Amino acid sequence: MKFAKRMEALKASEIREILKLIENPEIISFAGGLPAPELFPVKEMVDVSKRVLEEDGEKALQYSSTEGYLPLREKIAKRMEEVGVKTTADNILITSGSQQGLDFSGKVFLNEGDVVLCESPSYLGAINALKSYSPQFVEIDTDHEGMNMEELEKVLKERDNIKMIYVIPDFQNPSGRTWSIERRKRLIELANEFDLPVIEDNPYGELRFEGERPPSVKSFDTQGRVIYLGTFSKIFCPGLRVGWTLGDGEALQKYIFVKQGADLHTNTLTQREINKFMEVYSIDEHIEKIKDVYRKRRDVMMEAIKEYFPKVVKYTYPEGGLFTWCELPEGMDAKEVFKKSIEEKVAFVPGGSFYPNGGKDNTFRLNYSMMSEDKIQEGIQRLGKVLELEIQK
Ligand code: PMP
Repeated sequence: MKFAKRMEALKASEIREILKLIENPEIISFAGGLPAPELFPVKEMVDVSKRVLEEDGEKALQYSSTEGYLPLREKIAKRMEEVGVKTTADNILITSGSQQGLDFSGKVFLNEGDVVLCESPSYLGAINALKSYSPQFVEIDTDHEGMNMEELEKVLKERDNIKMIYVIPDFQNPSGRTWSIERRKRLIELANEFDLPVIEDNPYGELRFEGERPPSVKSFDTQGRVIYLGTFSKIFCPGLRVGWTLGDGEALQKYIFVKQGADLHTNTLTQREINKFMEVYSIDEHIEKIKDVYRKRRDVMMEAIKEYFPKVVKYTYPEGGLFTWCELPEGMDAKEVFKKSIEEKVAFVPGGSFYPNGGKDNTFRLNYSMMSEDKIQEGIQRLGKVLELEIQK
């Protein structure tokens, strides 16, 4: 069979292959990026599903508008005030997770060969979604305050065909880093100067364990050039597949056209269930509960890393979200360490695949949301031993 040319760029993701390897329940896994299932509000969801079906069953099971369920969009618009965005339901499109918003961003903005600027490293799922549109990725160096703005400016001046800047400014996947406010403002200045759209992907911002939540990049946007992607996946339940795209005017209209062609609209029932949950229960209380658990798990992981990892391993200290990011001495390959650590029944994701153009194989990502505190302690101790041996080699 002859497949479309774009399929050449798509292959099985390394993470999926790893996740298959670690189905063995004896393995302590820091590999996935999943929310802790024991925190899902199952009982409350039974209640709200029943209410939605009993009170409004015919509507909940019918086709509905492409933009999404209005009361839910209104609630999301209100919640966006927390990150400094004053908006209304008119600027919000409900999508099937924020992953769909990433795919649509490619469809709306990219022609073959166009350049996407992204953080180095960046979210693998976004890299894969955008790859379908056959762009070139140019990675911009990133440190503890976010993307390096001098380098970004240099690339913007030097390269042609740049079509979008993709960023994850809060508790980035994979690095766990959060951008400073100065860099957020500078990004907007540069995007304005070079007339580019910015895709701000923010699934983790609401999971802040300490300190103040910074204003979103979108909050500094006065020209309607930031498309903000949000989701209920990490603060609620990913299986419901409900996220949102917040944009202005013509740009959002394009996303709505694309949504219509892709799947007409997001699942009516789950949109109404989330909306009902927010009416009957408190999603903020639910988020607080999740954060309490993740904060403790983060603390245990960071303490254990301090105690058991060789001192030459560098790592980030995340103030929220689900991940920390480790860097081994130059020349080491985290894939080799991974093979050894699987023998010791502990898993993580080697970092190489988070770099769209490859390289930096001496990095890896650790997730702390899925494992109990005991297992985190035990797993990091085991990994520490593997690292000691590998570093001595
Ligand atoms: N963006 C980032 C940075 C992510 O980490 C994820 C999930 N791992 C997504 C988007 C997609 O999330 P969802 O489609 O479940 O909203």
